[in-house]
Amino acid sequence: MQVPAHVDYEKATSVDHALALLDRYGAEAKVLAGGHSLIPMMKLRLAQPELLVDINGLTDLRYITRAGKVLRIGTLTRHAQLLESDLAGEHFAIMHDAERVIADPIVRNWGTVGGSLCQADPSEDLSAAFAAMKGTMVIHSREGDREVSARAFHTGPYETVVGPAEMLTEIRLPVRPGGGSGYKKVARRAGDWPVGAAGAAVWLSGGVIADAGIGLTAVGATHFAAAEAEEFLRGRPADEQTLAQAGEIAAEHCRPVTDQRGPADYKRHLARELTTRVLRLAVSRARGEAA
Ligand SMILES: Cc1cc2nc3c(=O)[nH]c(=O)nc-3n(C[C@H](O)[C@H](O)[C@H](O)COP(=O)(O)OP(=O)(O)OC[C@H]3O[C@@H](n4cnc5c(N)ncnc54)[C@H](O)[C@@H]3O)c2cc1C
Repeated sequence: MQVPAHVDYEKATSVDHALALLDRYGAEAKVLAGGHSLIPMMKLRLAQPELLVDINGLTDLRYITRAGKVLRIGTLTRHAQLLESDLAGEHFAIMHDAERVIADPIVRNWGTVGGSLCQADPSEDLSAAFAAMKGTMVIHSREGDREVSARAFHTGPYETVVGPAEMLTEIRLPVRPGGGSGYKKVARRAGDWPVGAAGAAVWLSGGVIADAGIGLTAVGATHFAAAEAEEFLRGRPADEQTLAQAGEIAAEHCRPVTDQRGPADYKRHLARELTTRVLRLAVSRARGEAA
């Protein structure tokens, strides 16, 4: 059985305390949220921090709330809480769709939204969902808060813009009229990582797509997004032909690789099919036709 290298451990008593510890150790410190990604990485020696800063006691970072036209999700919100949240599901059904197919109840009961996003695994489901919803991430440091778009948050596989003395604290999602969203995933077995998955959010205005967000995961999409397909959809009628064309564009611009989960051409096929299907679902939900 693999065991991690020696590591120091501190339980943060406040956000300021966590930041002070992160500041002191710099790149040698790591935030410990649910630990479902970090601990396996440490066991494999793919991560060897000198200090773990456990933020699980910071319960004020665990919330789902609406403030005006913004849905706010605290970084320490567990997957299971997001899945059970009526407020989240009411505004963005995509979150419930995605959470239903992430791992299993054990992982969902302890893994956190922020941990998933910060892990930046290229096959991660929530990153694609948040890219589709066009969310923004609040990053906190001793200098204050800075807000970056979901697209700018991920800089590459396992990389984000969160610096060594910073923490992700909140995700913000704009609530706009005429919206509908959905998520679909193909996995080899229940609870597994995706072979390919797509999420979509659309905002309709009089039968026309006023705005659209498309998130893709595990298929080599830049920043988990299908920006060219989103651009194509803007201002067009939400009809079958348009949605199918968007699927084609999404597939054309992703860069899947062959791995143990499937061949690249099959993943490209999934990108096309899942994008089209999830757009269809999002449009029907925006029209109030589907649950
Ligand atoms: C068996 C298994 C199956 C899985 N299946 C899926 C799946 O199907 N789909 C999927 O998307 N995911 C899947 N996962 C991944 C799971 O969703 C993530 O492991 C988990 O949710 C990550 O969150 P965490 O709180 O455990 O993060 P941690 O492991 O604690 O942290 C992950 C990384 O994020 C950093 N971090 C955490 N919080 C912050 C913060 N607030 N600010 C800055 N940095 C932070 C940590 O330092 C670390 O580098 C699976 C995991 C397991 C173990």
